[in-house]
Amino acid sequence: MSQWFLKGIKKGIKTEKNFDDKFKPDYPSRLEGKSGYNCPVNAIKNGEWDENKCIYCGKCDLKPTKDEKIYKINDKLPKMFKKSLYIYPLDSGTCGACNAEFNSIFYPQYDANRFNIFLSNTPRHADALLLMGVYTEKMHDVMIDALDAMPDPKIIIGFGSCALSGGILGSSINEKFNVEIAGCPPDPYTIISAILKYKGGVK
Ligand code: SF4
Ligand code: SF4
Repeated sequence: MSQWFLKGIKKGIKTEKNFDDKFKPDYPSRLEGKSGYNCPVNAIKNGEWDENKCIYCGKCDLKPTKDEKIYKINDKLPKMFKKSLYIYPLDSGTCGACNAEFNSIFYPQYDANRFNIFLSNTPRHADALLLMGVYTEKMHDVMIDALDAMPDPKIIIGFGSCALSGGILGSSINEKFNVEIAGCPPDPYTIISAILKYKGGVK
């Protein structure tokens, strides 16, 4: 985040127009190659790398590719969300970093609003529930209540390795989400790219 901020000051702070022309961090990005490293979160199994389990710690020999499109789209977007998508974030036990990165997509540098992606402060007005953090039993009823309060149709976005696989703590909801955005935390470009792809946008 700080590197992006410094780059913004150097160039003059402005909303980024071209995502391909930006500073690309090594982590989080798609990893490739082989590694015999004993991954602490079992993200390397039988030579296969699992982007949803990886916490992008950089300790193994897998090479970062700077390809930040580390997300999965598991179904088709309901037609009525094509024009706009209102997202309600739900924290079921984060370290705070996923929240910070998600919030940053609405800052002037990324300006997700220009892509008709909006933040909703209540599930009652939301199209998508974005779940972040480890799954905790005590949050289960809260999640169900939030989902019940949302009008139909609705989608769930799994966000960050904690929600997708349990991350470092190992407790996940074990669900397949409509959209799965990997990273620990996911970065703003990954988040916007994933949502635009789901909306059938340009990226
Ligand atoms: S970057 Fe870290 S978490 Fe990801 S596969 Fe390598 S050791 Fe595992
Ligand atoms: S996925 Fe990583 S950044 Fe997000 S809450 Fe879990 S530990 Fe924190």
